[in-house]
Amino acid sequence: MDGSKEIPKTKTVYVDIGHCTSGEKNPLGVGGSDRGFQGPGYTECDINQGVGRKLMKELDNMGFYVVPTWNPDKPPAPVPKADDLQRRIDTVNRDVAKYGDDSIYISVHHDSDKTGRGGQCVYFDATRPNDARKLAETIQGSAWQTREHDKSPLCILPDTATGKGYLDGLRKTNSIGILVEGANVLNSRDRALMPMSEFQDKEAKALAQGIWNYFKLKPGAERPYSPAIRQRFGL
Ligand SMILES: [Zn+2]
Repeated sequence: MDGSKEIPKTKTVYVDIGHCTSGEKNPLGVGGSDRGFQGPGYTECDINQGVGRKLMKELDNMGFYVVPTWNPDKPPAPVPKADDLQRRIDTVNRDVAKYGDDSIYISVHHDSDKTGRGGQCVYFDATRPNDARKLAETIQGSAWQTREHDKSPLCILPDTATGKGYLDGLRKTNSIGILVEGANVLNSRDRALMPMSEFQDKEAKALAQGIWNYFKLKPGAERPYSPAIRQRFGL
């Protein structure tokens, strides 16, 4: 990361840890009843939190301004799933409205892909094909491993490829959005790796590097900064 100090100077990264905060309170752990997939001794929520925390730390160390859609140390009260998604979207959009659009949004998930293939896939907001696809490419370019996929060997997929319409969280946030499926619980190797701290470190570092590489291609520091941006970044 030579000469790196320049890149993150005015960049904000919204980190969305998938699941965990909707439904009724789960007495066994942080967050609500929506815990994503159930793995052997862990849930998707557990893995998303592990990787999400490490990713936020990496980005912070790189100098990015990191805004989580919810704070895993202080999880918000559980609400119905649709309200939970809206709450995440509102957090991002309020911040974008105040500080401008020099930002990206990354939603951290892990997959239960019945093909059984291992590795990482990424979905991008197909309504912003230039920026969001570019971000997806840099993320996959540094991924701990990309998953093979019939439609895209690099597993970079438009948000319409989910089979559920499109991903609301990507389209409704006013930032450059991607959703990462970091590994696949239906792949035996990934299933064993996912709960390991060393693996989560590796995955998070690779994601942070991909974000770094994206902003490196897109400096965008030439315009005058708003007073709010100047205040946030101490300019
Ligand atoms: Zn998920």
